[in-house]
Amino acid sequence: TQAHVDTMAARKELNAFITETPELALEQAKASDAKIKSGDAGAMEGLPIGMKDLFCTKDVRTTAASNILDNFIPPYESTVSSNLKKAGAVMVGKTNLDEFAMGSANITSAFGTVKNPWGSNVDKDLVPGGSSGGSAAAVAGELCLAATGTDTGGSIRQPASFSGIVGLKPTYGRCSRWGIVAFASSLDQAGPMTKTVRDSAIMLQSMAGYDVHDSTSARVELPDFEAALTGDIKGLKVGIPNEYKVDGMPEEITALWKQGEEMLKDAGAEIVPVSLPHTKYALATYYIVAPAEASSNLARYDGVRYGHRAEGELENLDDLYMKTRGQGFGEEVQRRIMIGTYVLSAGYYDAYYAKAQKIRTLISQDFAKAHEACDVILTPTCPSEAFGIGENEDDPVKMYLNDVFTVPTSLAGLPGISVPAGLSQGGLPLGLQLIGRPFDEETLLRSAEVLE
Ligand code: GLN
Repeated sequence: TQAHVDTMAARKELNAFITETPELALEQAKASDAKIKSGDAGAMEGLPIGMKDLFCTKDVRTTAASNILDNFIPPYESTVSSNLKKAGAVMVGKTNLDEFAMGSANITSAFGTVKNPWGSNVDKDLVPGGSSGGSAAAVAGELCLAATGTDTGGSIRQPASFSGIVGLKPTYGRCSRWGIVAFASSLDQAGPMTKTVRDSAIMLQSMAGYDVHDSTSARVELPDFEAALTGDIKGLKVGIPNEYKVDGMPEEITALWKQGEEMLKDAGAEIVPVSLPHTKYALATYYIVAPAEASSNLARYDGVRYGHRAEGELENLDDLYMKTRGQGFGEEVQRRIMIGTYVLSAGYYDAYYAKAQKIRTLISQDFAKAHEACDVILTPTCPSEAFGIGENEDDPVKMYLNDVFTVPTSLAGLPGISVPAGLSQGGLPLGLQLIGRPFDEETLLRSAEVLE
């Protein structure tokens, strides 16, 4: 913990943390030492981790990277962070993210952009991806051993790919959402961001489990994820979806995908073509469903209950709401609220939201059918390497394209993992994604380890 806290202090320029808690961490590390000595260690005893600043942490400020929550100190702890603490993990701080987890580059944070540690290799300021960009940068830059992330449409997997680490989005329902600041409740899922697949298995074990506080958390048995890492994938069927071979995909990403296929084949897997015919509608569907749910979830920030409240002359209650929300929410969050409110409005509900829900079902059915023919599906995690800070910023649609390979999995609620699979010609990390059957993280982790 001391070594990581020192690195945190030395690498402030990465801006990976919104709130650092080094004293608390060192104190806790001492307590962990004592537990280890007395033979009473938890599964993650004494391991320094970063906590995405979307997880409520008791008595430690939790901002969701928004001005509207800049003074919010939760009186309670999220289930996932509490599970990790019970397992002995030591929290070194709250990691930076896109405001309310809306973004793919960590540039919408009210607490400033995060820098990708890989930037120093190429002499350029690069984004770490998003929205869990602070977590990705903190792990890649050795500021902590591992970190929590949340993934609504790719926010664990895409920054993992950009930062050369492993990012796992478990099956929807595997981890409790209780105490995680909500973005889109039917999609949000917490997961580990780690250096290796084995670390991912160990951390997931401590994070996951049924929780009475979250009715969508699944009452399913928790397998031993680390025990699943046998290295044996003989006979495993790996699906390659034709529809992911999108126009304009860089040659090097196609080559990396092929290389992943070869690695799995060499280890005894069988490659089968599969079809996910509704893939082309996934991005549009996601950008209706996610903002719709976000607009509803964000209605609670009214300046009355908690968080920022507009100051100065206020004419009436509406004026309080408008000024509070106008000052507190950033541009991207306001854009999403407007999209969400529009697609849910009486006149457009059927045309957009209801239709999107139907397509979401078709996308889920595509995966269910594909998974009849294969155990896991292999795709690139994203269509590009990390881009420069400032690039794509004025073009939200181009930014949304980052999520083209990750959102279908989210819409279907399936587990997905991004594994660092090689470097681009420019020397930057590229990830491959594996998509598993619901609640089959074991097969997912086992095959992911082969790609490492
Ligand atoms: N980039 C996607 C978005 O902006 C996904 C974000 C996420 O998974 N939290 O909505």
